[in-house]
Amino acid sequence: MLDPQLERIARTLGPSRFPRKLALELCADCNLACSMCHHPEMRRPKGVMPFLLWKKCADEVARVDPDTEVWFSFCGEPLMEPDLLVAFLRYGRQVGLRSLNVNTNGQLLVPEVAGPLLTSGVGTIVIGIDGFSSPVYASVRVNGDRDVVYRNVEHLLELRRAMDDGPEIQVQFIEMDENEHEMRAFAEYWLERGATVKVRNKLSWGGRLDTPAHQAADDRIPCPWALTMMHVFWDGRVPRCSGDVEGEDFQDNAWHAPLTEIWGRLAPYRQLHLDRRFDELPDRCHDCRDWMSGAAERVRDGQLDRLERRRRKRPLPVPVSGAGRALVSVKSPPSQIVRRADVRPPAP
Ligand code: SF4
Ligand code: SF4
Repeated sequence: MLDPQLERIARTLGPSRFPRKLALELCADCNLACSMCHHPEMRRPKGVMPFLLWKKCADEVARVDPDTEVWFSFCGEPLMEPDLLVAFLRYGRQVGLRSLNVNTNGQLLVPEVAGPLLTSGVGTIVIGIDGFSSPVYASVRVNGDRDVVYRNVEHLLELRRAMDDGPEIQVQFIEMDENEHEMRAFAEYWLERGATVKVRNKLSWGGRLDTPAHQAADDRIPCPWALTMMHVFWDGRVPRCSGDVEGEDFQDNAWHAPLTEIWGRLAPYRQLHLDRRFDELPDRCHDCRDWMSGAAERVRDGQLDRLERRRRKRPLPVPVSGAGRALVSVKSPPSQIVRRADVRPPAP
């Protein structure tokens, strides 16, 4: 039986001339190696998005639809480049973008960075934490230090409290077998301190990782990620969707074409989803479970009961292939890091 939440999401999906959300990979490097992320096995080159590429994208978003949700980052940690992140956000605000958002693991959100970030024009800062105790945190957020991120976020919240009109600060909890017993303590702790708690399901990253998500093939809906969101890698390449995290399914580059044109060239894939011709989609869509990941739950002060409702609605687990990471084995070694990108566009 189709999950009512997925049914509701499906009703919001339709053709569009521009993405509702744009994720920009400001930096493809990362200081962590999280258990639920593809990044530790990423094979494509890693680098840093040149300011000129962001300027090109931001100017177009400002012209076409300044309400587009812009997110930093995709596969990588944007605070590896704190000055550049603040410069990107300030430029976005300067050209009139109305929804600028950051997703970070918070390890590098030190006091010297927190102040400039809060006043940069950012609307939402999401900090991925996923654990309340040190052992659980360390098992998910590999190479991270639980006490460092807790200290950083508490300081950020203190600074935000002193502002008249600061960004929303969300602490993210990706629900997994290893951490779900800590979700309530996590939520109580952060709600008391003024954060919003964001709970979401684990993604399969295009079918690469196991997830407990399960829907029958007959209940499939068009993929919300493909229908609403566009991603730009640090080097300008645009993947087919968030599941195409290595950029294997589609060839286009934001250096060479406006985002509007690239979104138009992705339209045939979106139409296959909308027509529910799922068998004709690329192979990756056959293994990927991300279309069933559903919406995140945002819990604010006084709404703790939402967590209990969410727990009751959770589908029964289904057997998955192996206990750990990969559904698809990655043969080549993870890629090396290019610390600085050339600021000029690559040749077409
Ligand atoms: S911090 Fe983010 S990008 Fe880095 S490994 Fe973890 S989830 Fe992936
Ligand atoms: S279901 Fe298909 S379109 Fe959606 S994220 Fe997965 S691979 Fe991409």
